[in-house]
Amino acid sequence: MKTFDDALSYLLSKAISTTNTEKMSLESALGRILAEDIVSQLNVPPHHNSMMDGYAVRVADIQADKTLRISQRIAAGVVGQSLETGTVARIFTGAPVPEGADAVIMQEEATEVEGGVKFSVDSIVRNQNIRHIGEDIASGDVILSKGQRLRAQDLGLIASIGIASISVYQRLRVATFSTGSELLEPSEQPESGKIYNANRYMLSGLIPQLGLELIDLGRIPDSLEATIDALTQAASVADVVVTTGGVSVGDEDYIKPAVEHLGQLDLWKVKMKPGKPLAYGKVAGKPFIGLPGNPVSAFTTFHLFARPFLLTMQGQAKVLPTPIWLTAGFDWPKPGFRREFVRAKLKNVGQHTEVTLFPNQGSGILTSAVWADGLAIIPEDSTLSKGDLVAYYALNTQEGA
Ligand code: AMP
Ligand code: MG
Repeated sequence: MKTFDDALSYLLSKAISTTNTEKMSLESALGRILAEDIVSQLNVPPHHNSMMDGYAVRVADIQADKTLRISQRIAAGVVGQSLETGTVARIFTGAPVPEGADAVIMQEEATEVEGGVKFSVDSIVRNQNIRHIGEDIASGDVILSKGQRLRAQDLGLIASIGIASISVYQRLRVATFSTGSELLEPSEQPESGKIYNANRYMLSGLIPQLGLELIDLGRIPDSLEATIDALTQAASVADVVVTTGGVSVGDEDYIKPAVEHLGQLDLWKVKMKPGKPLAYGKVAGKPFIGLPGNPVSAFTTFHLFARPFLLTMQGQAKVLPTPIWLTAGFDWPKPGFRREFVRAKLKNVGQHTEVTLFPNQGSGILTSAVWADGLAIIPEDSTLSKGDLVAYYALNTQEGA
């Protein structure tokens, strides 16, 4: 048996990032992975500007009850004249602060009077209410790095330096099929001895959720020939192949002989629960991941193994989730020799947050995955008591890892 950590690091050592890129306009780039560093050629903001509606002044000119003439009016988008000594400029939020001015006084602290304006402030400081040139981004800064997934705020930041299109990785094509002669599609009539295909529909959500292109080849009966045909087709149309089921070594499990016939296979029993068997290999030169058939195991191993593998292939730099440590709201009295990934959810108790578990953690209980928002991790050979710290991975986050 392989430990969870060994299986994961071996798998990730085999994942090679795509080099296929495409140019994409910003408005279509949400969720895509950057294939270049974005370097700013500009300062943001491009000029000192006012944080408030008010008056741009020279601090040295301000005295209580002294009337100062308003020599100019500067709205956002307009560059004013150098500020005449002994005068102020009426200024609005975002407008460039004129040369010579060294503070902005907000309009609430000013009274317009005959011949100008008076200020009620007794202490004003230089630079108050001024946003400085380059205070957000300085020219030459790397604002986003290759391998980052683009979120809404990232698109805003790129736009803020005047870049309209960027290089991203082409979407990875992932071909999938589910194996099992017992599988019915949900549109079919129930039949004795058969079950409905849950994994196909789960994968048809999990893969696009990662921003990858799904090529769904449906279900395959348990036969060597059908499995070889499906793998051959999958490898010819996709960059990577992910299947469920048939990875044990029973007489009706054909993934092993089929993949070995077409390429090479590593089949592991991973010391984890749920989801013991896991297969990695190559089919006609394309990477292959075989997940277990049991839907809860397929779901868990997809998140823990297939997800970081596929995201690495897609060019994403950070692919492993960061666990958070929270208080266990449960007891775990019996140690197990395998690492357990239990379906969990967070609950606020007073002013702290506890991890709670779905009562039935059986690997056939798909309702546990529906109830859960995350996975709590019970280390090998360990017990936990209510109040101990436990590591928790959120499952419901959109991509960004
Ligand atoms: P296997 O890994 O093929 O031995 O399957 C393990 C268990 O998961 C068996 O009880 C299968 O019937 C079940 N199973 C396999 N594939 C699916 C699927 N696509 N949807 C629902 N259950 C499945
Ligand atoms: Mg099977």
